[in-house]
Amino acid sequence: MHTIKLLKAGDPADWQFELANAITSADELLYELGLEQLENKLAHNPDFRLLVPRAFVKKMQKGNADDPLLLQVLPASSENTPSGLTDPVGDLNAMTTPGLLHKYKGRVLLVTTGACAIHCRYCFRRHFPYASSNPRKHDWKPALEYLYAHDDIHEVILSGGDPLVLDNAKLGRLFAALEQIPHLQWLRIHTRLPVVLPSRIDDELITILQKLRFRTTFVIHANHANELMMDEVEALQQLGSSGITLLNQSVLLKGVNDSSTALISLSKRLYQAGVLPYYLHMLDPVQGAMHFDVQQDRAIEILDTVKQALPGYLVPRLVREKPGEASKTAIFTI
Ligand SMILES: *Cc1c(COP(=O)(O)O)cnc(C)c1O
Ligand code: SF4
Repeated sequence: MHTIKLLKAGDPADWQFELANAITSADELLYELGLEQLENKLAHNPDFRLLVPRAFVKKMQKGNADDPLLLQVLPASSENTPSGLTDPVGDLNAMTTPGLLHKYKGRVLLVTTGACAIHCRYCFRRHFPYASSNPRKHDWKPALEYLYAHDDIHEVILSGGDPLVLDNAKLGRLFAALEQIPHLQWLRIHTRLPVVLPSRIDDELITILQKLRFRTTFVIHANHANELMMDEVEALQQLGSSGITLLNQSVLLKGVNDSSTALISLSKRLYQAGVLPYYLHMLDPVQGAMHFDVQQDRAIEILDTVKQALPGYLVPRLVREKPGEASKTAIFTI
């Protein structure tokens, strides 16, 4: 469905307009897909509301209740179980200043914003206390001071939420501040926007990124090949040709991508867009998402089949995040 756009100077950019017009009602989403019969299988008043841009909905198959993209965003009644944790990866223990997570050597993660362009039901930060942990009003000062004081930190990872939900002006100011810290060499942006709102990759953003002195990497987040259609592939290719390294991480999700066929197609589609697979995460045991859990034996079996079918550089590393460990924990396959 296309919305009429009448943009004037000073108006929100296209992507902001699209974001403001994203679907937030399960009834509307099911109506769009001709799946009204699912209405009685929904979670009631989920604490994590539904949010999905129309560009993402367009890639779902009408009438398919098992669509792998739909399952990622629809609040299903199976969410209403008490199992799982609210801080599954020990984020709150690793927080140094508000929004800054220093878990691993040489690199820090900055929770740049609590906002996302999509709400993924399996999100490990769906219970994260953004309101109290976020740098208030984008006041980066305490985080920047911490970075200045630790010259063993070479890489800043912008995460969230989704850092690309910030507009170009805000991002530009943050980058400018980071560039002044002499020991920072690498900038990494963890974002789902090239996949869920490809219009976010606009010319202005590309120009800003190209001018940075950092070696810059995007870690995008796609779980299924159907997420990467023409617009997304084009946006990614544009980032790639601007000199940005492109990696992907996925979460292994029951019903979405828990088959070797799904993962092989995903790797191939990513490579076509210039993206290499990085991590395949085991689900973090987060409350409300346990119905996506895949057993470790099954995960190993799936990945072994993927390994036989693809060159090594198209096989993601199967990992689990354990609170208190010095890195992600690799799960070795036979
Ligand atoms: C995952 C993560 C990183 C990045 O780990 P890499 O193995 O370098 O990708 C850094 N900080 C935190 C807090 C993380 O959760
Ligand atoms: S985009 Fe990332 S942070 Fe946001 S809801 Fe999805 S998984 Fe969570």
